[in-house]
Amino acid sequence: MSEPLLRVKDLVKNFDIKSGLLGRTFNKVHAVDNVSFEMQAGETLGLVGESGCGKSTTGRCILRLIEPTSGEVWFEGRSVRELSGRELTMLRRDMQIIFQDPFASLNPRMTAGAIIGEALIIHKLVKNNRELQDRVVELLDTVGLGAAHMRRFPHEFSGGQRQRIGIARALAVSPKLIVCDEAVSALDVSIQAQVINLLADLQEKFGFTYLFIAHDLSVVEHISKRVAVMYLGRIVELATARDLYVRPLHPYTEALLAAVPVPDPAVKRDKVRLKGEMPNPIHPPTGCHFHTRCPIRQLPLCSTEKPELKKMGDGHWVACHLRG
Ligand code: SF4
Repeated sequence: MSEPLLRVKDLVKNFDIKSGLLGRTFNKVHAVDNVSFEMQAGETLGLVGESGCGKSTTGRCILRLIEPTSGEVWFEGRSVRELSGRELTMLRRDMQIIFQDPFASLNPRMTAGAIIGEALIIHKLVKNNRELQDRVVELLDTVGLGAAHMRRFPHEFSGGQRQRIGIARALAVSPKLIVCDEAVSALDVSIQAQVINLLADLQEKFGFTYLFIAHDLSVVEHISKRVAVMYLGRIVELATARDLYVRPLHPYTEALLAAVPVPDPAVKRDKVRLKGEMPNPIHPPTGCHFHTRCPIRQLPLCSTEKPELKKMGDGHWVACHLRG
């Protein structure tokens, strides 16, 4: 297999909780806990889990929008943590993000044309105003909008159209990796399908690599080649999308899948129901983080020993004492 485009190794991100006038740290939120994975150029990896499981923080650490506490991220073989100045600017060009809330992520005082053109100007990708206009129109066309939309403001668009502007903004700099951070979660189901289809078409046309972050397994199913399931800061299962949906191994994945409607009657799934809330990441449970909600846990093993990710087949990894 060729050198991965992205390699994440033992990534950790803790957020300090401070108090008092001196701002002393009195606790930590353990948002990302030793996450490792690789991505090949041109593939889509779905990163799935409940809200607060650390998936968005993982995406932001990769882009260096926030600094990881420890661990390494390599992009095209270069350590992202060691980049500074011009190299970091180039990295920002190669790695883009599409946010969940297109309304909040678009400046309400800028027209769609100005929003999309901003990155072209910052990265000096156009020589003059004529070229800028032409490129903006081309990008609008690529995402299914027209030149007439250029002079409109974000509030004049629907949610789906706003997300198309967010996509056009990301495309403007011809990135290699795009982190889609809950990019369709705020949209209606029918609009979600349109935006996912658009992202799939763009990938086919331009060869983009997507890290597709979502809280719903059904959303990532059709676009992802592989899927990683996160729970309380850790990856608990990683497999090809086909394997994960047909043969899930981790009880948490089974519970997430139980919530997804099955169109194929030949696919039988145990109706595992997820009980309770995800524990507080300030005080994650000992051993397997999932043991407080797991329907098949065995104590004291599951509450004392951390299960490591173990290879269970071709590209299928699981972190569970009983299934690994
Ligand atoms: Fe459940 Fe134990 Fe497996 Fe964790 S290690 S998922 S608690 S059986």
